[in-house]
Amino acid sequence: MADKWIAGVDLGGTTTKIAFITVLGKIVHKWEIPTDNSDEGQNITSNIAKAIDEKLTEIGETKQKLMGIGMGAPGPVDYETGIILNVVNLGWKDNFPLKDSLEEATSLPAAVENDANCAALGEMWSGAGNGAKDLVCVTLGTGVGGGVIANGNIIQGVNGAAGEIGHITVIPSSGAPCNCGKTGCLETVASATGIVRLAVEEIKNSHSSSKLGELFTLNGRLTAKDIFDAARDNDRLAQKVLAEVSFHLGLALANIGNTLNPEKIVLGGGVSKAGNLLLESVKENFAKFAFPAVRNSTEIDLATLGNDAGVLGAAWLIKNKLNQ
Ligand code: ZN
Repeated sequence: MADKWIAGVDLGGTTTKIAFITVLGKIVHKWEIPTDNSDEGQNITSNIAKAIDEKLTEIGETKQKLMGIGMGAPGPVDYETGIILNVVNLGWKDNFPLKDSLEEATSLPAAVENDANCAALGEMWSGAGNGAKDLVCVTLGTGVGGGVIANGNIIQGVNGAAGEIGHITVIPSSGAPCNCGKTGCLETVASATGIVRLAVEEIKNSHSSSKLGELFTLNGRLTAKDIFDAARDNDRLAQKVLAEVSFHLGLALANIGNTLNPEKIVLGGGVSKAGNLLLESVKENFAKFAFPAVRNSTEIDLATLGNDAGVLGAAWLIKNKLNQ
């Protein structure tokens, strides 16, 4: 078994990341294919199977090299049955039997899980979690995803919707609308989209000039990176936005800490590329709102795996399932 590989798949709306990974969590081969979500998504799993076969041929290996396939998919997944409950942008109808479809297409034992949960498992296995069995992973990207691991297991919830940290309400009244249908979710202030929205609002309400405001006037748009760069350059407006983001994020994380007291809270996703600038002010707010026993034992850290967390966590899933 020790020389076998695992196929890890991170399914996205436009691209699918695939990797061959050793049982010790090292990526040996990694590539991407486009996600074909036409025809009610019926080509998705067969395209993955084909890509795996082609890669094996290309590198002179056979299917016997693979012990199984794990996949992270965007949407709530029932881990036991491997059914994906609803997905907006992949073409599948509600309650699509993803695990069965993947097993049939690849002739490999399969396991599927929500993609944010896979990222958390990946960080636990070979990233910032460093083996921690109690871990919360928050992905700050276009949206805000979350995965909660307690005693080595993902917390699923009764409807596969546990760990949706992005939808914690942080602004109880007059908050911005969120994709989930609610208003004032953490995602509306701590995702890349949310941070840009806060900055644009701030620019429109501000009477004094700022570098960030000038950049917005020049380009007609801003990115989260523009805001972090400006904050680093001591732009007051950008720093104000960052302070607001860190406040909401630090408060939400403190309340998660107060509930779960995990060993680590890991911040990943594109927004976390702001690095220490974000981390330090989130930590300050966390320390303010976490009670002493949590403040002194739960660590906040940046994710280390970047885009690889999803494929690694997916591979861990099937490895763990086969070992049981
Ligand atoms: Zn929401």
